[in-house]
Amino acid sequence: MENGSRRKPLSSDFRISENVSASAKHRPWSLRLMSLLVVSIALLLAMVGAATWNLRTQQIWGGWVAHSNQVRYELLQLLELLIDAQTGARGFSLLGSDRALQAYNEATPRIEPCLERVQQLISDNPKQRPLGAQLEGLANEVRVFNETLLNEARNGNAARVRSLLTDGHIDDVMASARRLVAEMQAEEDHLLIERRLTRDRARRDATLALWGTGGLGAILLVLIVYFTRRDEARLHLAERELATMLRSIGDAVIATDVAGTIRFMNPIAAQLTGWDETSARGHPLTDVFRIIGEETRAPVESPARQVLEGGRVQLANNAVLISRDGSERAIADSGAPVVDESGNVQGMVLVFRDVTEQRRAERALQQRDAELQIINDYARFPIARCDPQHHYLFVNKAYAERLGSRPEDCIGKHIRDVAGERAYQSIRHYMDEALAGRVVEFETEIPYAGNLGQRWMHCIYAPVRDTDGMVRSFVAAVTDITERKAAERELERSRAALAETDRRKDEFIATLSHELRNPLAPIRAAAKIIASPQVPLPQVQRAQVIIERQVTHMALLLDDLLDVARITQGKLTLKKATVALFDVVDAAVEAVRPTLNAKNHQLSLNLPTEPVSLEADPLRLSQILSNLMINAAKYSDPGSHIELAATVEGDAVSLSVKDDGIGIAPQSITGIFDMFSQIDAGTGRSDGGLGIGLALVKGLTELHGGTVEARSGGLGFGSEFIVRLPLVRREAASPLATDPAPAVSVRRRILIADDNQDAAESLSMLLELSGHEVRIAHQGRDALAIAQTFRPDTALLDIGMPDLSGYEVARALRQEPWATRLRLIAVTGWGQEDDRRRALQAGFDHYLTKPIDPDHLESLIAGQSMEYS
Ligand code: ADP
Repeated sequence: MENGSRRKPLSSDFRISENVSASAKHRPWSLRLMSLLVVSIALLLAMVGAATWNLRTQQIWGGWVAHSNQVRYELLQLLELLIDAQTGARGFSLLGSDRALQAYNEATPRIEPCLERVQQLISDNPKQRPLGAQLEGLANEVRVFNETLLNEARNGNAARVRSLLTDGHIDDVMASARRLVAEMQAEEDHLLIERRLTRDRARRDATLALWGTGGLGAILLVLIVYFTRRDEARLHLAERELATMLRSIGDAVIATDVAGTIRFMNPIAAQLTGWDETSARGHPLTDVFRIIGEETRAPVESPARQVLEGGRVQLANNAVLISRDGSERAIADSGAPVVDESGNVQGMVLVFRDVTEQRRAERALQQRDAELQIINDYARFPIARCDPQHHYLFVNKAYAERLGSRPEDCIGKHIRDVAGERAYQSIRHYMDEALAGRVVEFETEIPYAGNLGQRWMHCIYAPVRDTDGMVRSFVAAVTDITERKAAERELERSRAALAETDRRKDEFIATLSHELRNPLAPIRAAAKIIASPQVPLPQVQRAQVIIERQVTHMALLLDDLLDVARITQGKLTLKKATVALFDVVDAAVEAVRPTLNAKNHQLSLNLPTEPVSLEADPLRLSQILSNLMINAAKYSDPGSHIELAATVEGDAVSLSVKDDGIGIAPQSITGIFDMFSQIDAGTGRSDGGLGIGLALVKGLTELHGGTVEARSGGLGFGSEFIVRLPLVRREAASPLATDPAPAVSVRRRILIADDNQDAAESLSMLLELSGHEVRIAHQGRDALAIAQTFRPDTALLDIGMPDLSGYEVARALRQEPWATRLRLIAVTGWGQEDDRRRALQAGFDHYLTKPIDPDHLESLIAGQSMEYS
């Protein structure tokens, strides 16, 4: 990647440098011009050839013309010589004239050579040759006649002479000679005309060819001059352009000759090397261009040598240029040879650039790449990048692994093919939004294909823009929030449950205050009745019964409350014993009998005939049954039928309380055992309650290792509550642990300390009625003071007193030497387990919650029970 990014621009530099050498060997003329020139020269040569040939032809035919003229001349000469010789011979023979003889003598010897010349001249003409032979014969005849005539004349044979001259023979011969010469001349004339014509034609053609040659040569010359000039101008311009270009390009350029001596250097090269062009010119390249390896710091061979020797383009990367002043720069360089037309290296061009910044950027990029790689490999949240057609361009490891794949298996694939069609469709419009240039953040449930299944995902899709601002892809960063969503739903449910509990609690508090206030009214009224002196005794007794009943009711309510609180805190402990089921049922029935009677209900018991033993807390077990029966009584119309049944089922006993009362709506059954749960008051609830009775039943049952279930056919169809408990098969059960033993009548000295005067007074009266000696204090300090003199053997101390708390008083009393056998009983409205523990630590022996059960108190005072209640 590093090399690729660095070499790419350099390779374009090479093109520049190759263009440089191309410019240097720029062809002067174009191919077309060259072809034209070649054709022109060929034409020119053809014309010269034609001219030469025609001149030669003209010369030959000129010779032939002269030949014919010569023939004509020689024929004429011969004829004249024949005539002169004949005339001379005739003149001499007739007149004896010496002048005639002289003429004869001069002409005769020339006839023979002349005839030979004629024969010679016409020897190549088959037509003339026979004529020449005839002419020769005639010439011989003339010569013989002349000699004969002269001989006759010299012999003075005048008659013979006359006869010879007049017989006409010689005249015929001469006439024949003349005709023959004329014929031969005519023949030559004919030849002469032809030969002249041919000669003249050749001369004309030669003239034309010479003119053409001259003209074409002139045009060629002009063209050559024109194009040469033009190319020179172009070359010059190209050189200037090249120089300007090399000076103005952003890269440094140095050109050397074949020996590596610098001939040219552009300003950038001057700047990078620290040499100016003038001083650098003529220096060896190695002086000016000094480079070392970027990593090795060792001198690096300049590319110049290889370029010049090898004639090839060379690259050198990762080099550092040391400039004239010693400063260093990372450079990327390349060299290209300059070759001439014949392919010989004439020099080189070195192109280089400062890549310091580029290297820095590359290193930063590498660093970022490495960081990105780490994110890709180790980031736990899935990331992907997709193209506009929804194909993966990139996915990190986490993304691929989620889809049960590897990044290389996802890249290039369509989202549909990797995540599934339904998943793709569910996110498609978000992707389109991102590709439209918006960042989209959303949470959605995606139905993935394969094992992944339906997952809640938090997704951010962000568009990725190119340098031109166009969105070419988008990045998706996704987080699986299925667990978080489930937790949120759970939280929502818990919130709703909490709100429901809260609502129930508020309702409970309202109900509680109502339930507690209810008994107060009759108590107050009854107290008033008792206080009135004129009220008859029966009414006083009735009032007492009312007070007793209401107080019992309130005490029950408060006990239930405390029990529930203990169960929820896990602090209620069972006093288990092996008990007989019948006894427990008896106790429970006894407890609810007044309630059943009050509403005139019918109770039927359906119990096993065999005795059944349970490992249980008898009090709590009967509390479970009585609570269920009281509910059955409460939620049934007067005179209804209630059934208590027990069945043994394997190792468990199932206790069922069934009524035919108002029943329970199906939707209410589920939460009926929850704390404070009360079905709408409009269901016709017949008696008050706090909505904790069934919670208590459930808690107590579970403490016994059992289960409880509610059933109903719906509103108006009665209800059934079934408690299942583990069974212990025993023949006989121990008696109920709760059976209170009769109180032993012992007179005690009792100190009562309570800031509530009424409470203290009423308790005092009660105890005095039982025969005890009682003192009262309303503050802690008073109690201590009284104790010092009174020396009680029992102290009933309220905890919350204004000056000293009951704990403090107890602790102080426990310090007294006389108080070793003192029985300390805490009497308080606080019934929490914590309060009991603190009381114990302070030295109390017993802990009673208000209102106190007088019988229980009596037994404690008598010293028969050491149990806390
Ligand atoms: P409460 O003090 O209101 O009776 P419980 O916890 O005992 O509280 O009962 C909770 C609610 O269950 C009651 O308010 C009543 O609506 C319903 N319920 C309990 N027992 C019966 C029953 N035998 N028949 C119909 N409804 C019942």
